[in-house]
Amino acid sequence: MCTKEKKTVLITGSSRGIGRACALRLAQDGYAIVLHGKAPSKALAKAVEEVKATGADVRALTFDVCDRDEARKALTDDIEKHGMYWGMVINAGISKDVTFAGMEPEAWDDVINTNLQGFYNVVQPLVMPMVRARRGGRIVTVSSISGVMGNRGQVNYSAAKAALIGATKALALELASRDITVNAVAPGLIQTDMVNEMVIERALPFVPMKRLGKPEEVAAAVAFLMSPLAGYITRSVIEIDGGLHG
Ligand code: NDP
Repeated sequence: MCTKEKKTVLITGSSRGIGRACALRLAQDGYAIVLHGKAPSKALAKAVEEVKATGADVRALTFDVCDRDEARKALTDDIEKHGMYWGMVINAGISKDVTFAGMEPEAWDDVINTNLQGFYNVVQPLVMPMVRARRGGRIVTVSSISGVMGNRGQVNYSAAKAALIGATKALALELASRDITVNAVAPGLIQTDMVNEMVIERALPFVPMKRLGKPEEVAAAVAFLMSPLAGYITRSVIEIDGGLHG
């Protein structure tokens, strides 16, 4: 696969968790990989080595997705040097759970800035270069089932992830005629650093499959959306949640 012209995929927030699993899976599928983290870290360096071990081309970028200027500069410098990405997985995200009555402004702002503004800060500078490259392409955003159904203690996160679905669907309309598909995945409870024991205890009883999802199970859906098999799927949301939403 991807032998004629190498397809490069940027995965934001791929030092750990779901992003790392997406990077490894897409590397195995034959894509060149651009890893990304907020700042240089041992985890990011390890992810680079893991992707390299698959035989894939790999490089890593670091920038804060909340910092509009920093993100634009890092991305435009990278594509000037290496050429435009064929695909993007917009995955970097955080949660800061607390009931709304007690939610400090920082918890609201940080979650909106990372999960929603981060979408603008990363995708907007790349849209015209992607269109101009005239190769089609794929954008997959990582939303959450919390954005689909709303979740107690996550008014900030549900708002950001619901808005991300709206942005994904609207952008899909703008790019459909360019053969660029734009879809979202909405994971449920996935075993990563983001979910602590308290979250698991509270939410697991509501998961029909009675287990957490694995990052690799989200990566499989992302890899499908990235693949030629999904060429006619756009403006969709795939839920990967063990039946939680249904
Ligand atoms: P992790 O906490 O394991 O990883 C988060 C990743 O995002 C890291 O690579 C981190 O980089 C990066 N990141 C966070 N903030 C920033 C920032 N400001 N700028 C740049 N990079 C940043 O999270 P998950 O793998 O669990 O989550 C990945 C995505 O999946 C998120 O969007 C999350 O909302 C979503 N999701 C997760 C679910 C779950 O149950 N785990 C469920 C539903 C959705 P660094 O290592 O440098 O900090």
